[in-house]
Amino acid sequence: MAGPRCPVCREAIERGVETFPFCSRRCRTLDLGDWLGESYRVADAPAPEAEGALLQRLLGSEDEWPSA
Ligand SMILES: [Zn+2]
Repeated sequence: MAGPRCPVCREAIERGVETFPFCSRRCRTLDLGDWLGESYRVADAPAPEAEGALLQRLLGSEDEWPSA
């Protein structure tokens, strides 16, 4: 029966708070800052342009990929 928790600091938060789903403005700002800094969640995802290049390589030249 755990209530919602702040995704930044993991503190339990009350529903209906002004900064929901964050416990405070500070955490909301931190989360936004992480997104802008591209250090949050997208760290292991390729950038859109890199993804396009990868797709092109996959479609165009499979031979370049080493076979395990
Ligand atoms: Zn928090």
